[in-house]
Amino acid sequence: GRGRLPFIAGNWKMNLDHLQAVAFVQKLHWTLKDAKHEEGSVEVGVFPPFTDLRTVQTLIDADKIPFALGAQDLSQHDGGAYTGEVSGAFLKKLDCTYVIIGHSERRQYHAESDEIVADKVKAALRHGLVPVICVGETAEDLERFGASAVPVGQLQAALDGLSAGADVVVAYEPVWAIGSGQAATPEQAQEVCAKLRGVVAEKLGADAAARTRILYGGSVKAANIAAFMRQPDVDGALVGGASLVVDEFAAIIRYQK
Ligand code: PEP
Repeated sequence: GRGRLPFIAGNWKMNLDHLQAVAFVQKLHWTLKDAKHEEGSVEVGVFPPFTDLRTVQTLIDADKIPFALGAQDLSQHDGGAYTGEVSGAFLKKLDCTYVIIGHSERRQYHAESDEIVADKVKAALRHGLVPVICVGETAEDLERFGASAVPVGQLQAALDGLSAGADVVVAYEPVWAIGSGQAATPEQAQEVCAKLRGVVAEKLGADAAARTRILYGGSVKAANIAAFMRQPDVDGALVGGASLVVDEFAAIIRYQK
């Protein structure tokens, strides 16, 4: 809504090795070309596993494929004795524009606290990456506190101490909607996204709030994307499962048609 460039982001999670990634990105690109999709009307982002990033970067650079590249996580540290971790500096060298931070699967399976998420957001910004900050309530949170209290608190923690005007993307992803086939209603997504925009205003200022893209995520499909995009505070989608199916993801990108 409201002059912000829509952003359709595909979170591949732990799917597609680097060879499968090449085939997938080429096929998606040609599917959009064949459909005469107007480049520039929507920003398309792909978020492959770390081991694919170099290959996908080379492909989109060589073939001038208009997709932004992002990683699914980064270390809060800049370098050093952190076995298995990947620094924001390395991601920047691979022309990553974005990095997902605080996905619910990281919070759940890797015990990422609000504090770690906040440190990772600072690390991303330090290296010139735009963090895609994920927040959202579990089914239990929803029952106990309603939809917005937990995501609002998570976003306040993630943005705490940043300079005014910092460049971020926010993804509202109700945990109960992720991979469940049960998306939030567009009205609920709008209500929470509007509150999240209020948090951005409070933490980063009114200009940043007007400019910041807030995405909805959780069982987004070609059949429901348009209803989310009609909401004034929903500026795009973070897509998991459907981002791995070329025709489905292409149809999501072409949601206006
Ligand atoms: C996600 O994990 O970010 C997500 C939104 O997954 P899905 O689209 O599969 O619900």
